[in-house]
Amino acid sequence: MGKLSQFITHPIELRAAIILKFFRKPLFSVQDTQETPDLKKCYQLLNLTSRSFAAVIMELNPELRNAVMLFYLILRALDTVEDDMSIAHEIKVPLLRDFYKKLSLDDWSFDGNAPTEKDRAVLTDFNAILHEFHRLNKDYRDVIIKITKEMGNGMADYILDEEFNLNGVQTIKDYDMYCHYVAGLVGDGLTHLMVIAKFASPELINQPELFESMGLFLQKTNIIRDYAEDIEAGRSFWPKEIWSIYGNKLTDFQSSTNTKQGVFCINHLVLNALEHVTDVLTYLSSIQEQSSFQFCAIPQVMAIATLALVFNNENVLHTNVKIRKGTTCDLILKSRSYKGCVDIFEYYLRDIRKRLGVEDPNYLKFNIHIAKIDQFIEEMYQDNLPQGVKPNKTPIYLKVTERSKYDNPVEDVQYEEIYKFNMLLTVLLTTGLAFLVIYLGPSQN
Ligand code: MG
Repeated sequence: MGKLSQFITHPIELRAAIILKFFRKPLFSVQDTQETPDLKKCYQLLNLTSRSFAAVIMELNPELRNAVMLFYLILRALDTVEDDMSIAHEIKVPLLRDFYKKLSLDDWSFDGNAPTEKDRAVLTDFNAILHEFHRLNKDYRDVIIKITKEMGNGMADYILDEEFNLNGVQTIKDYDMYCHYVAGLVGDGLTHLMVIAKFASPELINQPELFESMGLFLQKTNIIRDYAEDIEAGRSFWPKEIWSIYGNKLTDFQSSTNTKQGVFCINHLVLNALEHVTDVLTYLSSIQEQSSFQFCAIPQVMAIATLALVFNNENVLHTNVKIRKGTTCDLILKSRSYKGCVDIFEYYLRDIRKRLGVEDPNYLKFNIHIAKIDQFIEEMYQDNLPQGVKPNKTPIYLKVTERSKYDNPVEDVQYEEIYKFNMLLTVLLTTGLAFLVIYLGPSQN
């Protein structure tokens, strides 16, 4: 279905897309992203590698924006070395392990990627990244160096892990470990950057399971969704401990006789990902700055929407399914408040439960787990109970007085302008209609 017809059949999403595109003031000015030629270059590289990431990074508070942008580019450079199959292992492995050391050099760049490598500019222009990196505050730099070291070593270990390369991910523990290296570490780094900027509760540092869950929830969602694409590329990251319950070979799920088992397997993986939801909601409640909150919340609400889309969906076995562009716009607008995020999670969890069949082997487990999340949300809001009623517990850090500012998002949407736009549209439509009646109406002759 084309984008236009999608919007026509989903008018609320069309409205969200229009508001996002035309009627929203950015929280901060982006002028300081052009301060030096190197910084300008860095933002060009960011746009080149990921438009969607560039958009959310641009919205960040300037205190954090350059640090997050450079963190992203450095990890993108690391990944561009890892993904390039044309680089020999003898060059690649030590380069990945020592990549963090390059961050202490004044100048360094790398021209060893294949000419076809789409992100190779990040490495050939690495000097610009280095120069701006050295201008960051030392606390930010230390975080980025630490994560680059851990991720580079993790990548090198996986390249040398024959069992992994031959047979893929085995146990659920291996699955969590793999996701830790590709996503959990990103959550670790971002959390430290936000705490240093005083944009997140420092207590987050002592609860690694929370930031770990932020990364794992996103990564697992992508892994479930990308099944068909990965199988076509000759790889898969679904853990054998789960898929072997439903089939003898991972590729078996693509044959029409095994569709039902394939769907049960998808659902099992969705159930596994849902284990991170209460951590994600707890984490989001401890972000204390609006732009950082949105930066963290948007990918998470997109992930729960994607999980609901892949749940019970046999198309995942053959093609790459995606949430509609309009849904994304609607989610971006609604997730600006904490209450909005919780509502989105509740909406998609209800949707999953509604479509869960009794024949699903995990029927009971799903129901129990979703009920647990519901209870968690209920308890979280119990500090809103009438006087005299005692809450069971307060599982999150933020007092309701502080949180309430996220229950009412900042007014960055220009509603007055939307009103004017609606009026203009009505006038245009009425005039158009009047002309049509005049010209196409019954002839007077
Ligand atoms: Mg990679």
